[in-house]
Amino acid sequence: MAKFDVAVIGAGAAGMMCAATAAQRGLRVVLIDHATKLAEKIRISGGGRCNFTNVNAGPANFLSENPHFCKSALSRYTPADFVALVKKHRIGYHEKHRGQLFCDDSAEQIIEMLKDECAGGDVHWRMPCKVESLEQTAEGFVLETDSGSIEAPSVVIATGGLSIPKIGATDFGYRIAAQFDLRMVEPRPALVPLTFDAEQWAPFVEMSGIALEVDVETGSLKGRNPTGGRFREDLLFTHRGLSGPAILQISSYWQPGTPIVINLLPELDLAATLIEGKGTIKKQLGNVLSQWLPARLAEGLLLAHGFALDARLADMPDAQLRKLGAAINQWSLTPNGSEGYKKAEVTRGGIDTRELSQQTMMATKVPGLYFIGEAVDVTGWLGGYNFQWAWASGVAAGLAV
Ligand SMILES: Cc1cc2nc3c(=O)[nH]c(=O)nc-3n(C[C@H](O)[C@H](O)[C@H](O)COP(=O)(O)OP(=O)(O)OC[C@H]3O[C@@H](n4cnc5c(N)ncnc54)[C@H](O)[C@@H]3O)c2cc1C
Repeated sequence: MAKFDVAVIGAGAAGMMCAATAAQRGLRVVLIDHATKLAEKIRISGGGRCNFTNVNAGPANFLSENPHFCKSALSRYTPADFVALVKKHRIGYHEKHRGQLFCDDSAEQIIEMLKDECAGGDVHWRMPCKVESLEQTAEGFVLETDSGSIEAPSVVIATGGLSIPKIGATDFGYRIAAQFDLRMVEPRPALVPLTFDAEQWAPFVEMSGIALEVDVETGSLKGRNPTGGRFREDLLFTHRGLSGPAILQISSYWQPGTPIVINLLPELDLAATLIEGKGTIKKQLGNVLSQWLPARLAEGLLLAHGFALDARLADMPDAQLRKLGAAINQWSLTPNGSEGYKKAEVTRGGIDTRELSQQTMMATKVPGLYFIGEAVDVTGWLGGYNFQWAWASGVAAGLAV
């Protein structure tokens, strides 16, 4: 039986960060992963350049049944701390959009950096290695794996969520939670394109490929504890529905059976502008709208909402223009689902944070058992926030084990 102080299961973003932190404190750490290729999710992230953090990351950028849970770890390991690590490893980076930091060259550099940090603490690797069982003993835990038994007083579960099963995602973390009777928040695909019934989407199929900046919202934004979200980002029409950053962001807040509301012209009150322009604008409706929207989209929207392309603005009753204004400024539509885990960047939900200490990430009912990263019910917005949570929760557990 191999003995370690800490066994970390899952060598992704959170697991490597945790293993390196614990090992650099002088602990004997084993890092276990079933994949043959290390940290595939980091490799494919940010289009191959890894959006490794967001300089603005704070608790408001995360969804969780308990929005306060992430505060402690995020405040103790900040984006500036991760940037300092990136600089220490001389990795070039740049800011792209709203605080998102990307590698200049390749996501591989982040993987190499984390490997170096693990080597700095002499982390032991078991990879590829399948964990067959995890049992609690008087001394801690025994793991049976396909390369022998491992004993450790502390075990960290860093096996992530369900997104992208083809590169190794499993429900291992959730099964361990069930084994130890820990509550779960139902997992759901998040940061994912949304889909619509074929019949409902038929008028928009031809718009596939069109992109534009919109406001999108869903759920309730009112009250002290809002359950909805609102974003101004780019939207992309696809054959099956909607994608682009605006939709990925709102998908994390969207509840099945409820609508999303899109403002296709966020800088313009369309009804007021059309009513005011009736006397002076002599054009047909299709041409009027194409001043502000791509022509293909303007035409498609008019037809889908029952307006004739050649209707003259001057002839239209105000009530009709208000209807058109609402259709464009508050386009309400109800998705029938999403593209699911095969396309979702993350999994929403996971281990219920009420079961964990926010300082250490340890399960309060199971001393020595920790959960970090995406396995936990803390989900970041698009834009580097999910990695920041992986680093911060990994460090919190790495310092506590
Ligand atoms: C296409 C894509 C692009 C993304 N881009 C970004 C981005 O640019 N910025 C950002 O912040 N976030 C991004 N994300 C999200 C980010 O990758 C994840 O939130 C983050 O990797 C989660 O870290 P983690 O360590 O918790 O889990 P993961 O990184 O998923 O690591 C989990 C590890 O556990 C291993 N594992 C799973 N099951 C088992 C098992 N049974 N036994 C042993 N090992 C197991 C897996 O092989 C994997 O190595 C992206 C996600 C995707 C899918």
